Amino acid sequence: MLGVGSKADDAEIKRAFRDKARKFHPDVNRDDPSAEDRFKDVNEAYEVLSDPSKRALYDRFGENWQRYRDAGVNSDRPSRGQPPPRAKAPPDDFETWFSGTASQNGDSWTYTETPPSGRRFSDFFNMLFGSQNGGSRTSSSSQRPRRDTPQRGEDTDVAVEISLREAATGTIRNLQLQMPTTCTLCKGTGLARGAMCPRCDGTGQMRTQKTLEVSIPKGVRTGSRVKIASQGTPGIGGGTNGDVFLIIEVPADPTFERLGNDLRHTLTVPISTAVLGGEIVVPTLEGRVAMTVPEGTQNGRIFRLRGKGLPPLNPKDGKVGDILVEIRVDIPQELTEQEREIFTRLKNLRQ
Ligand SMILES: [Zn+2]
Repeated sequence: MLGVGSKADDAEIKRAFRDKARKFHPDVNRDDPSAEDRFKDVNEAYEVLSDPSKRALYDRFGENWQRYRDAGVNSDRPSRGQPPPRAKAPPDDFETWFSGTASQNGDSWTYTETPPSGRRFSDFFNMLFGSQNGGSRTSSSSQRPRRDTPQRGEDTDVAVEISLREAATGTIRNLQLQMPTTCTLCKGTGLARGAMCPRCDGTGQMRTQKTLEVSIPKGVRTGSRVKIASQGTPGIGGGTNGDVFLIIEVPADPTFERLGNDLRHTLTVPISTAVLGGEIVVPTLEGRVAMTVPEGTQNGRIFRLRGKGLPPLNPKDGKVGDILVEIRVDIPQELTEQEREIFTRLKNLRQ
């Protein structure tokens, strides 16, 4: 549970305990109800390990230590003739992690909030002693607590809305993010001058406003995820930072309907232009362009402006899209007397 070997010395146990306590502290795991149970396990593990008599029982009997103790086996017997356990220094930051208090009992320190009696320790002792060889560990002279397992920081998703034109060209955004950063006072250790760091309450992290200038590549669409590497939550114990993912939203555009990398625009043209042919003005992402439609252009006909659409997000995935101009012929609804006369003549001509 504490991630230390069975030969771990006191300082090592204390360090490991502090790290685990921080990791599973309920105050930093509000969204994870299981953390509270783990936190209690850590407490229990520390209580046993910091008590030489209980620890000696464990060293002799492994995970069944409690049964032997309850049966009256004395842990001192095998160590007769050996020097007594040396006195421990009071844990400098032990009590600050808990709502309860630590108290000195002989030469060992125990936490007053003892676990419910009869609770089994074997699961966390299995974790504690199962995989690591404590004999090969060396003590660090550094004051900085050592983390046994570096943890990668969490990723952070950020919704970003951009226009269709920005999606076509790519864009840059300055994001204001409220996110955890490494505490500037304790440098992430959670400890300052031997006590819990007052700036971060011992979590090693602070929630700070962070400005991030991000580059959004051209070709993104709604749902695209843009990775900003290593700008997420800081890692713990030398772990790498998480990433920031921009979740792109490109709202519907009033001018263009997006069809993959193509853009469709519906253009209403006068009936005379459709019949006689002529120049029309078409919007593109870079401004308006003039184009000519032929005589007899039909309602619903689509003209294609090649290469005027959106670029592919990955150049290997295809070519730049087109603008599809769909012609909608404007049929006059209210005719003047003169217009009615002209259309009547046209009708008689074509019969
Ligand atoms: Zn701090």
